[in-house]
Amino acid sequence: RTLQTRSMHLLKDKAYINGQWLGAQSGKVFQVTNPATGEVIGTAPDMDTSDTQRAIEGAHAAFQTWQDTTAKDRSHYLRKWYDLMAQNHEDLAKIITLEAGKPLVEARGEVAYGNSFIEFFSEEARRIHGEIIPSPIPTKKILVERQPIGVAGLIAPWNFPHAMITRKAGAALASGCTCVIKPAEDTPFTALALMELAHQAGIPSGVVNVVTSSRENAPAIGNLLCESPLVAGISFTGSTQVGKLLYRQCSSGVKRLGLELGGNAPFIVFNSANVGHAVKGAMASKFRNCGQTCVSSNRFLVQGKVYDSFVGSLVKEIKSLKIGNGQECGVNVGPLINQAQFGKVSDLVEDAVSKGAKVLTGGKAARQFGELFYEPTVLTDIKENMRVYTEEVFGPIVTIFRFETEEEGLQIANSTERGLAGYFYSEDVSQIFRVARKLEVGMCGVNEGIISTAEAPFGGIKESGLGREGSHHGIDDFTYIKYICVGNL
Ligand code: ADP
Repeated sequence: RTLQTRSMHLLKDKAYINGQWLGAQSGKVFQVTNPATGEVIGTAPDMDTSDTQRAIEGAHAAFQTWQDTTAKDRSHYLRKWYDLMAQNHEDLAKIITLEAGKPLVEARGEVAYGNSFIEFFSEEARRIHGEIIPSPIPTKKILVERQPIGVAGLIAPWNFPHAMITRKAGAALASGCTCVIKPAEDTPFTALALMELAHQAGIPSGVVNVVTSSRENAPAIGNLLCESPLVAGISFTGSTQVGKLLYRQCSSGVKRLGLELGGNAPFIVFNSANVGHAVKGAMASKFRNCGQTCVSSNRFLVQGKVYDSFVGSLVKEIKSLKIGNGQECGVNVGPLINQAQFGKVSDLVEDAVSKGAKVLTGGKAARQFGELFYEPTVLTDIKENMRVYTEEVFGPIVTIFRFETEEEGLQIANSTERGLAGYFYSEDVSQIFRVARKLEVGMCGVNEGIISTAEAPFGGIKESGLGREGSHHGIDDFTYIKYICVGNL
């Protein structure tokens, strides 16, 4: 409760459209609960397509002037927004923990990470350069410039309720686009808190909008964003299933589309690895946000000679994790986000165990902490017919495979439709370059379990997505290239 009251000035129960705080035109609301306790935190407007249309029109009107602001002006607005986020760091973290359940230390980490995108793109705004290309004809000049695409629809997930919005919105605003943001139904309050700060930063009305809705209304809102002629592009982070649907829906209007979908990250420990570093990296990459990140290690592949020492040390580390409410000090593992996610994680473990997987630790719900808690679990003897072999777990479950040769390790690592992140530990320099090249992923951690940062391009290959977010490449989804030919010179 104290937590709620302290962060109250940022806790908004209205959506943010065209610079105004609005309820749904239908008057409907939906409840948002704290996954650690099941308590209702509050309600948010359950908006539908008519509210979304209003937001799209507001964003479209605002684009007419925002696109003509100077890069320097946009940079200043973003910087101001960033400064306010930094000043409200702790309150933002508390709201994240309250609605997403992650431990407060991790929520603070997310705020630093999420804020850094607005800081980075406030700087990048001034470096969206064009080019002059040498012409084959002396009387013609070839000029190339980048222009903003227009209104961007940003659809965000619940696992990083702050950073997944700022990573998109920072790039969109820096480019000169305006946006309509649809946060996840589990975590609307972080998005609305960010809007309060955008408002305080003086970002003009209509430039950023947040439309909140229940799960039931999300498909219709998503469809409208994809099909509205006033929207130029969509950027989505979420499940592969919804991503594919949006891809289809965007085809009718040939919309620009950025997709950050599910991963199935391998974490390979080679015989040459520093096992101590590997265990540390494994813990960081697996248990952050209770395993609910798309770059979480999903399959641990360990080579024969280091198998026993790696598995032994990892299990020891896992047993020392502290489960609990993220608001409490020292907690490392919070709840899963909702019942659907909880059900999926327990089903995957049950399926694997029924088909012969061995449980080294965990393997069951941790009900003593609450309805949505699951014990950090280690499974070995994984076989191809188990669902965990191919599916992304999104929970605190470690699945371990043993392999003998580098080729075999790579073959298992690449035997997936997905290719977001991949990690491996090796001290053999030629192996490092060989494996980094051959791993079929968009992002590769070598002797490192945490790789995300605003400066680096985030994104996947294969079914993990399209495009890159963060870094200067993050601008690409929100700009198009205009070629201007000046003749008769
Ligand atoms: P998860 O399964 O992790 O919740 P989703 O892909 O279902 O991931 O959700 C990510 C975001 O996509 C959320 O904001 C959610 O409301 C939204 N969403 C869900 N279904 C649709 C849909 N059919 N069209 C557009 N957005 C959707």
